[in-house]
Amino acid sequence: MITYEYRRAESLEDAASVLEKYGDTARIVAGGTDIMVQIHEKDKRWENLKCLLDMTYLENELRYISEDSENVYIGPLSTHTDLENSEIIKKYLPFLGEASSTVGSPQIRNRGTIGGSIGNAFPASDPLPALVAADAVVVLYGLCGKRSILLKDLYEGKGKLALRRGEFIREFIVPKFPEGTVTGFSKLGRRKALAISRLNCAAALTFGEKGEITRARICPGCIFIVPDRVEKAEKLLIGEKPSEKLFYEAGRAVSDVMIERTGVRWSTEYKKPAVEEIVFRALAAAAGMEV
Ligand SMILES: Cc1cc2nc3c(=O)[nH]c(=O)nc-3n(C[C@H](O)[C@H](O)[C@H](O)COP(=O)(O)OP(=O)(O)OC[C@H]3O[C@@H](n4cnc5c(N)ncnc54)[C@H](O)[C@@H]3O)c2cc1C
Repeated sequence: MITYEYRRAESLEDAASVLEKYGDTARIVAGGTDIMVQIHEKDKRWENLKCLLDMTYLENELRYISEDSENVYIGPLSTHTDLENSEIIKKYLPFLGEASSTVGSPQIRNRGTIGGSIGNAFPASDPLPALVAADAVVVLYGLCGKRSILLKDLYEGKGKLALRRGEFIREFIVPKFPEGTVTGFSKLGRRKALAISRLNCAAALTFGEKGEITRARICPGCIFIVPDRVEKAEKLLIGEKPSEKLFYEAGRAVSDVMIERTGVRWSTEYKKPAVEEIVFRALAAAAGMEV
């Protein structure tokens, strides 16, 4: 059995000082849908766990979705249900709301938080590609103050985040897309309910006056060790009008980049066409095309 001390975070500063004191032997619990399952299953990662830091008492500070003229601000204790139902998310980041609505089951979405989704450092997170496609910035809080980095740069490697000792995720800042932007999300899971993605993709397209694509963002999930947009595929779309052929071409560009980065594996035969299809579907959903 893994035994540990339970601490309740009384303030942001208190949370940072507990994390600073315990370093790698402390872990935050937000919704608990991942960490509690992992502890229960005696996951080797938590063999040395000494302190579980409960952040849920900081809801007033950390659970919110707000906006100003430039950005959307998301507190890490916002649940997937909060994101799915938020009018701000529906208006400015609809693909994030859609992605959140596909997480697990209603129970998981009511408990699971966006902070936990990212804090997990798991590349199969459903909200992650939408945040990366939107060039989200993550604000980290520690005893030395706050610092901000691009969310994609928070991922250091498999299962590893670039958090310094004592730091935790304080906020996500997501720049609003230019006028005329539409978004789409697609997901391939093992089965319809409770399925963590095997593949997913978030896409955002901005259209010019003549219906041509002027800006594109494509972020596939689960295929790279660290999340990333695929600029090679995005560039293909610029100046073009949406078509099935064009979107499949973008899908092929994404699968080419996947193979360049990860090499050919036993799963490539299955993954290549699946990636192409999932990218196509995200783009088609953004462009409002029937598939
Ligand atoms: C049955 C089931 C189905 C699921 N289905 C899906 C799915 O379809 N799609 C999907 O994406 N996920 C799925 N998940 C995974 C999980 O529900 C989500 O990742 C959820 O958002 C995690 O949030 P949480 O608040 O419960 O995290 P917790 O379990 O509380 O924490 C997860 C990790 O994040 C860290 N953490 C939490 N908050 C912070 C913070 N502020 N700063 C730094 N680190 C932090 C914790 O220390 C921990 O390591 C599923 C899980 C289960 C059990």
